[in-house]
Amino acid sequence: VWAADLGQVDPQDIWRKDRDHFVHPWTHFDSFKQDGSLVMDRAEGAYVTDISGKRYLDGIGGLWCVNAGYGRKEIVEAIAAQAMRMPFYNPFVDTTNVPAAELSAKLASLAPGDLNKVFYTCGGSTANDTAVRIAHYYHARRGKKSKMHVISRIDAYHGSTYLTGSITGRPGDRSPYLNFLDGWIHHVSSPNFYRSEKARQEDMSEAEFCDHLVQELEDKILEIGADNVACFFAEPIMGAGGVIVPPPGYHARTLEVCKRHDVLYISDEVVTAFGRLGHFFASKDVFGIEPDMIVTAKGLTSGYQPLGACIFSDRIYDAMSAPDPDGWFTNGYTYSGHPVACAAALANIALMERDDICGHVRKMGPYLEKKLNELLDLPIVGQVRGKHFMMCVENVADKATREHLPDAANIGKRISDHCERLGLIVRPLGALNVISPPLTLTEPQIDELVGILRKGIEAAMQDLRQEGLLKA
Ligand code: PLP
Repeated sequence: VWAADLGQVDPQDIWRKDRDHFVHPWTHFDSFKQDGSLVMDRAEGAYVTDISGKRYLDGIGGLWCVNAGYGRKEIVEAIAAQAMRMPFYNPFVDTTNVPAAELSAKLASLAPGDLNKVFYTCGGSTANDTAVRIAHYYHARRGKKSKMHVISRIDAYHGSTYLTGSITGRPGDRSPYLNFLDGWIHHVSSPNFYRSEKARQEDMSEAEFCDHLVQELEDKILEIGADNVACFFAEPIMGAGGVIVPPPGYHARTLEVCKRHDVLYISDEVVTAFGRLGHFFASKDVFGIEPDMIVTAKGLTSGYQPLGACIFSDRIYDAMSAPDPDGWFTNGYTYSGHPVACAAALANIALMERDDICGHVRKMGPYLEKKLNELLDLPIVGQVRGKHFMMCVENVADKATREHLPDAANIGKRISDHCERLGLIVRPLGALNVISPPLTLTEPQIDELVGILRKGIEAAMQDLRQEGLLKA
């Protein structure tokens, strides 16, 4: 019997085994070899406890995903019951399972418009990968095989398969030691008004910046040739790229451009779906658009099981499935529609509906935004941005010029280290600290989160003054 639950593990031994054998995502080897990782051990509600017994408020919901919070017996019991009844059976060709069928119908009922078809994957990256294959297949089946190119955006994050790692547009992810599929993937500007050099130089209003972005997308389609462009990828609010909320009207207008050029609009809702912005899906309910595809993962199971889904329109399906002897859609995974993962998603959605978690976010989201905005009185907090339970704080050396602190300040990490010491997990992303907590957070827990974050920022400022890296 595996002994972890019997209290027989030695924390140092686990730390060492991990450092010596587990190669983590996005590892910088210099620091990893030295520091290893903080071993997390158990979790309840909005709190996570490390192997030494220290408890933290989880300000990042695992990684934007534990939306329903930890310790949800309903989800755990659904997982156990399905695993006992039938842990797996293959989804290829002639067989399926009850949870996958039920979940598909449920997702079709929750997704906007005619997005009634669901393709399951193992997570967000593979769901985005699948979205591109669906786009290619759809165009080719309509005799438009040249529509192959993909347009994405600088600062976008769409995953880490070879394909989605190339569609991703965060400059920091472009390791000089990796290769990217650049020939047929293109990146237009990030919709980050606060950081746009062009908007600053040309003294644009946010509305003018939006005009510029929409025109840039259309110009890019025309440059590549509309007959060569398959799809456009957009997160409703960019997550890992820095919680970037686009200017008002951006999504509706870019969708209109895509429609005019027969370019499919893929809304990557891996982070924004399942309540984070107060609705099951944000595309229509928050941004007023009905995209051709919605990609989701993370909050779909609240992270209790790995599962991703590409939800697409009847119109696409009809073209894909028109009679054709060669009409095999040769894409899919052993674990597409995994019964245990689908059972977890069904239980997660049921409890979100029962407890009206989306309603809770619509109520508490503005409170979290208000409390975080109070941090703007600190000299290094340049901007607080995001919406509801998807927020970040951007730290600067000078609020007026928006100049960043020197790299040596390592400000995001420095703040998150202080917060960790004080009992809060926030995610460092360059000069930013990201906040994406479980959606169940109460008002006192929001006060706790923002109170510790304030202390963490103040402690970091203190360090920087001592090191001569901050004057204010
Ligand atoms: N798309 C977005 C917007 C994401 O934030 C992520 C992960 O953070 C992904 C895709 C990739 O999902 P996964 O890590 O489950 O493959």
